[in-house]
Amino acid sequence: MADVISSRCLERLRLANDYNQCVHAYATLVQDIRDLIECGLQTEVEMLSRTCRTAWGAAEAARLALFRHEANHNCRWGLSLPKPQAKRV
Ligand SMILES: [Zn+2]
Repeated sequence: MADVISSRCLERLRLANDYNQCVHAYATLVQDIRDLIECGLQTEVEMLSRTCRTAWGAAEAARLALFRHEANHNCRWGLSLPKPQAKRV
């Protein structure tokens, strides 16, 4: 397995992991907002919505960085992105 990974582009792996973490952070915030809405905590929803928009921006920037790297480095490979962590309960 180590030989397979070492033959891959490590920068692409780093960018893919960064993208995965950003998307996971965004998804967690969306879930938190949903929970706050269900509890009727509108002020908290508005505050967390700003953070959520920032997280969306970070995820989009990470996606673009990965896309640009793949295009410039021609290193796209068929492995899927790492799986996000288990869903919170
Ligand atoms: Zn690359």
